[in-house]
Amino acid sequence: MIKDNVYIKLFACCILVKGAKRATIVDIQRHDYMFVPLGISEILEEGKSRPIEEVLQGYNAADVANITKYLDHLITREYAFRTTEPELYPRLSLEWKNSSLISNAIIDFDYHSDYPVEPIIDQLEKLGCETVQVRYFDAACILWVSQLLSTFARGMGKIRNIQLVLGYSREMDKSSLIRLMQKHERLTEIIIHSAPEESLLIHQKRYPLRFIKQEIKDESHCGFVSPKYFRINAPFFIESQHFNSCLNAKVSVDKNGMIKNCPAMDSTYGHVNDLSIDDVVIRQDYLDWGNISKDQVEGCSDCEFRYICSDCRVFTKTGGRYAKPASCTYNPYTMSWEQEPVIKEKQGAF
Ligand code: SF4
Repeated sequence: MIKDNVYIKLFACCILVKGAKRATIVDIQRHDYMFVPLGISEILEEGKSRPIEEVLQGYNAADVANITKYLDHLITREYAFRTTEPELYPRLSLEWKNSSLISNAIIDFDYHSDYPVEPIIDQLEKLGCETVQVRYFDAACILWVSQLLSTFARGMGKIRNIQLVLGYSREMDKSSLIRLMQKHERLTEIIIHSAPEESLLIHQKRYPLRFIKQEIKDESHCGFVSPKYFRINAPFFIESQHFNSCLNAKVSVDKNGMIKNCPAMDSTYGHVNDLSIDDVVIRQDYLDWGNISKDQVEGCSDCEFRYICSDCRVFTKTGGRYAKPASCTYNPYTMSWEQEPVIKEKQGAF
């Protein structure tokens, strides 16, 4: 039943994202989303500033009944509510400011890597980096891992999350790794790739120690797009409105010690022995990659998932700077996944 001066509003945490053929309402508080037809999304948009009765004038009785039923459904699912005082419910600000020049970093190694890690950790600490993923593509030695973590421990403490992706070796037994997690509280996740068996242990009910059979032998193991990898939370959603959801405030050092935006990129700024990360991350050519939002990417700009889907600027359909990620099989113009999305253990994007 529609009453005078009643507005239908979405909760502030439930945000409409229009695609080419349908819209989503993304609930960044409950980490969920639902689809809505474009017609309903337009009514919700119009209904922000006008009572619903006024918005529905001009529709015939059958349409009003159907629309009302749909709006009731949104209210039942707690995406929307009725109010006679819409001014009391302001919109959520979607402004984003990077709190530091670098928020996350990837450092890659393999058996042949011979660059020093200490200066890199020092530079990341000074830049205010919070999360670092270290990947070792070959079988890793527990002594090397322990020394690496001790180097992190000597830092200023700005780095709060350390994720390790390590090649399996016999030394990589669960008890040794759990001991490392107990000793180094900032170690938030360990993935052991190329393991003989799959298993998952959750240390302190929060920190996963995962053994996977899949081999992660180089930096090409990245850039997968699937609903399984959608990230539905406020920071990711808001950052994606303005910046690249993978490369913003990210720096990487590849297995040869070359500084890059992403380790899988061909282009590099130089070797860590020859220049400092501080000098790279203020360069315009470095910043340009982080500034490519999904709204600028071909196809993605029309996709209703664009603010919950992690981007990839390296593996793209045509190789172009603004081309759609290569592994995406979603077509926003037909609203269908044209092939089963590739599901692999995802690495490399925070
Ligand atoms: S088109 Fe594919 S890659 Fe682009 S936002 Fe949609 S699901 Fe993600």
